[in-house]
Amino acid sequence: MRFSPVAEIRRSALNHNLQRLRALAPNSKLMAVVKANAYGHGLIRLASWMSDVDGFGLARIEEALALRESGSQARLVLLEGVFSAEDLEQAAQHELDVVIHDAEQVRLLEHTPLSQPLTIWLKIDTGMHRLGVTAEQFSALYQRLCQCDNVRTPPNLMTHFSVADELENPETVRQIQRFNQLAQNLPGEKALSNSAGTLSWPSAHGDWVRPGLALYGVNPMIGGRAEQFDLKPVMTMRSKVLAVRELKAGEPVGYGQTWRSSRDTRIAVIAMGYGDGYPRHAVSGTPVLINGQRYPLAGRISMDMLTVEVGEAPVQVGDDVVLWGDGLPVEEIAECAGTIPYELLCSTTARVQYRYI
Ligand code: PLP
Repeated sequence: MRFSPVAEIRRSALNHNLQRLRALAPNSKLMAVVKANAYGHGLIRLASWMSDVDGFGLARIEEALALRESGSQARLVLLEGVFSAEDLEQAAQHELDVVIHDAEQVRLLEHTPLSQPLTIWLKIDTGMHRLGVTAEQFSALYQRLCQCDNVRTPPNLMTHFSVADELENPETVRQIQRFNQLAQNLPGEKALSNSAGTLSWPSAHGDWVRPGLALYGVNPMIGGRAEQFDLKPVMTMRSKVLAVRELKAGEPVGYGQTWRSSRDTRIAVIAMGYGDGYPRHAVSGTPVLINGQRYPLAGRISMDMLTVEVGEAPVQVGDDVVLWGDGLPVEEIAECAGTIPYELLCSTTARVQYRYI
């Protein structure tokens, strides 16, 4: 028996989530966001499992080229755009859609000879204030793109939400209005919605939705859980109990002795630590599933191990453990660690094995 973590990645859950998202946005094309190694699930495998989506969203050109090398002929969109003439030509050769988000990228496109024109998405900043052209810049840059020989006209238009995961926050409505004011009457396809927009803001579905997190079966809404949208976790992080030891009342566990037992009890030591991607800031009390039962984390996370109070329960070396996923929402573990599920999914390290089922 191996005492090391395994990320189990379930195709049936992915298919289920895809169907759910398609049903929620039936009139929109679906761009599956697979950046950051498909949110830690494995880019090539997950893209091959989603061959029927309308396109894939990636952050960086290296990710898109890796997909092309794997044989993918899907529509691929570079969400962060490209920053050099060489990368623009690579995008042209490999038929990658490119997002343009500032005047410098428009200039680069105008001055770079390309083997063939590109499909361009002009990104409008409607409130995120990270990437995107401002309302004041928009018309002039849009016109320049329409006139540029390197652009397959008309350019598509997109924006990105900053608080769509907060249902009560009126800023999303304002972002939608700002986008529509500029984009509504222009030709070209429109795309506004990440997962939160797809799940909770139907007026923002547009021609395309761009979900990432929800595809992987996780609810992006603040305080939300996957079952509220009937989503199923694609990744289950599994491991094993590698030791069980007795503890007297008042004895501490682990580095810093931050947790002390209030009673005579037993501690299960699990083969999973921050060296595998478990969040070191998870607090004592964070739930861990052993043989399908919840037990509380006790003490600090180590590099290779974490410790759980199991009391008198019949827990033994070799027992099955779930750190998040099936039966234990990754949303809940993220909350206990003061982070977001995105970070947990993306943080698994190279020594975690992947099992695709
Ligand atoms: N669209 C863009 C431009 C993004 O940067 C991202 C991810 O951050 C997404 C869509 C998908 O977001 P989410 O995973 O919240 O659905």
